Amino acid sequence: RAKSEGRGTYHFFEAGMDATLQRRRTLETGLRDALANNGLSVVFQPIVSLQTNVVVAAEALMRWDHPRLGPISPVEFIPIAEETGIIHDIGGWILEAATRAAAQWPGPVRVAINLSPIQFKRPDLVSTIKAALEAASLDASRLELEITESLLLENSQSNIDVLLAVRRLGVRVAMDDFGTGYSSLSYLRAFPFDKIKIDRSFMADVATKADSRAILGAMISLGRNLGMTTVAEGVETAEQLAVVRAEGCTQVQGYFFSPPIEGEAMLAMLQAEQCNRVRQRA
Ligand code: C2E
Ligand code: MG
Ligand code: MG
Ligand code: MG
Repeated sequence: RAKSEGRGTYHFFEAGMDATLQRRRTLETGLRDALANNGLSVVFQPIVSLQTNVVVAAEALMRWDHPRLGPISPVEFIPIAEETGIIHDIGGWILEAATRAAAQWPGPVRVAINLSPIQFKRPDLVSTIKAALEAASLDASRLELEITESLLLENSQSNIDVLLAVRRLGVRVAMDDFGTGYSSLSYLRAFPFDKIKIDRSFMADVATKADSRAILGAMISLGRNLGMTTVAEGVETAEQLAVVRAEGCTQVQGYFFSPPIEGEAMLAMLQAEQCNRVRQRA
């Protein structure tokens, strides 16, 4: 009996492993197919200024609808892309697609693009960024790059040098998911970020818990004292918005204003806002 149980367990385990590995392999090859056959898309989430209440930027977020498995979250496919090196190609793809879209947007609205630490391993990252801006005829001042602190984990001077080179192009650099890593504070000394994006985990109960609000407030003051723009990510309710505003945050991004939307809808939203502004002035 023990023997058969053992065997049963073994088979179960093997079947489980198989499903995980199989999905991974499916996603891996699927990702290459998607890149080659227009299977990837980009959506944009508006970022609103709390000073002017208008959309000042939008974050480009990658989407992938697998022909058989349906929509796959970037939380699942980006790590696979990083491990397999496909991130270089899909990262280049979204850089081109998002800068091209942003070139259609009115006035000074910026586009923010996420960069994986893996992309910094290629020596041509800076020239890739420069080429994308030129191909799209987008001014460098309209691009923001979002990086996470894992990029600075080893305090790698070469990564910092790349960031400085990106900066010299006139591109802004934001620290994404601020506060979630090991030592967010020390990384603020490693590189002069233009912007910090406070992770949405900090929004959870700012409207109901004094401690949570105090922590949020401290992060906002820190950014302000360092001369950085602060963005609250994941603002979902009017109550959260009121707290974020009262604490002096510069910008907000979250479902309360808008989820990520298709490129056409983003353009329409920005054009409508532009019309309103012109009308207000008239
Ligand atoms: P992120 O860069 O921190 O992007 C913000 C994520 O929060 C997005 O998830 C967005 O849809 C979600 N979000 C925005 N507002 C709210 C809200 O009010 N409530 C909640 N619950 N969520 C909100 P998404 O699009 O699933 O992307 C997840 C992560 O995947 C991103 O986090 C980023 O790290 C990564 N990612 C997405 N696109 C790219 C890409 O093109 N390149 C790289 N390297 N990473 C990407
Ligand atoms: Mg981001
Ligand atoms: Mg983030
Ligand atoms: Mg994140």
